[in-house]
Amino acid sequence: MGDNRDFRALPSVDRLLQSLKLAEGEWPRLLLVEAARRSLAAARDEIERGQPPPDAVALADEVLGMLRQWSTPSLRPVINATGVILHTNLGRAPLSPAAGQAMLRAATSYSNLELDLESGERGSRHDHLRPLIQEVTGAEDGIAVNNNAGAVLLALSALAVGQEVIVSRGQAVEIGGGFRIPDVMRQSGAQLVEVGTTNRTYLTDYEAAITPRTAALLRVHPSNFRLDGFVHSVEVRDLVELANRAGISVIDDVGSGALLDPARFGLRDEPLVQDSVRAGVSAVCFSGDKLLGGPQAGLIVGKRDAIERIRRHPLARALRIDKASLAGLEATLRLYQRGEATTQVPIWKAIARSADELERRARDVARSLGSSRASALATRATVGGGSLPGETLASWAVAVGVAADGSGISVAALARRLRGLDRPVIGRIEQDRLVLDLRTVEPEDDPTLLAALRAILA
Ligand SMILES: *Cc1c(COP(=O)(O)O)cnc(C)c1O
Repeated sequence: MGDNRDFRALPSVDRLLQSLKLAEGEWPRLLLVEAARRSLAAARDEIERGQPPPDAVALADEVLGMLRQWSTPSLRPVINATGVILHTNLGRAPLSPAAGQAMLRAATSYSNLELDLESGERGSRHDHLRPLIQEVTGAEDGIAVNNNAGAVLLALSALAVGQEVIVSRGQAVEIGGGFRIPDVMRQSGAQLVEVGTTNRTYLTDYEAAITPRTAALLRVHPSNFRLDGFVHSVEVRDLVELANRAGISVIDDVGSGALLDPARFGLRDEPLVQDSVRAGVSAVCFSGDKLLGGPQAGLIVGKRDAIERIRRHPLARALRIDKASLAGLEATLRLYQRGEATTQVPIWKAIARSADELERRARDVARSLGSSRASALATRATVGGGSLPGETLASWAVAVGVAADGSGISVAALARRLRGLDRPVIGRIEQDRLVLDLRTVEPEDDPTLLAALRAILA
């Protein structure tokens, strides 16, 4: 137990708050008093344990630290210097300014979400996207839901409940985050019929498995792994031709939802949504926030009757898209309609950046840092997000290694300090170097990155 003198060394709540010299109205009184009370209570506990009373500066710092923590959102913007363009842990696709503004407007105002402005009668939220989906993908109709996992579940539920769905064994995959095709199939009430082998499935395998109970053939793009060598899978147009003969549907989960061909930028081609639509698939499912570069969403596009059944299914209500995402998706699709996706959609800008431009930026930042520990480094960036596994893009990074004499902050501590910033900077550690890949950094953020490194390395 400490003695009374020690306790009397602590200021009152009011005196402690006055010592902070905060501007009037900077913090709500409620928070100020709470922070001061907590700091003083902690100080009293310390004194009771026999510690000396904290000095005025330490107490004030404690209060300010608490206030800062309470006013910093847990979810906040970071600078992605990982070189992974669609980083699942960093929120996948950042939005274009147009999509961001559309989401803000929809979120902070009433809107005609379910109102037909022409008649003044009730409308459907699904009507807003239909013309754009038709134009951009070529599909007869389409609907957007909460995400692609939901889209696949909904399409299977609406088109195949109580019936069989045939899938190639090589496509009964796990996408990540617990999304496994056999499990989703069970949830939907459809029965999975696997055909072929892990590496080779032929049209005749599907054909032999069709029974009067078959509702659909399901194709799943194995987005996050790649089989090479002795492999064979069936083209979607052949699946459609077989399904048409048998009077059943084809459901195609293309995953990433590429509307532009990544092959334009030296990457392997992805299944294009438009190709599946053109092949005559009943329901093509894809994500809104992977290669489409929009908000989290799942799109199902395809034949009018299939989409109508999907729209009327009760799960469509449970999985419906919210108004802000709908607005962001509309704005994003409009950029594709205008042919501006590669200049406006951040993930396509990141894919399209030239290695020369990235080298120049990396050299500029490294030079401006003026530290013998920093240099420009040629790297390989990836698309990520379960898209284009194994494919890389030539890129450049600012790399910070260990000092020749071993002095200064360690590479691990540097990475930690960068993560602790108000706007954290996330890089990757490779061979005792912190690598900050600039392909995923907007050029406007280079000065912020530079200032953060300079402050920590100084
Ligand atoms: C990513 C992916 C999903 C899941 O999409 P979400 O939008 O994350 O729900 C489903 N299927 C495939 C093939 C995918 O690549």
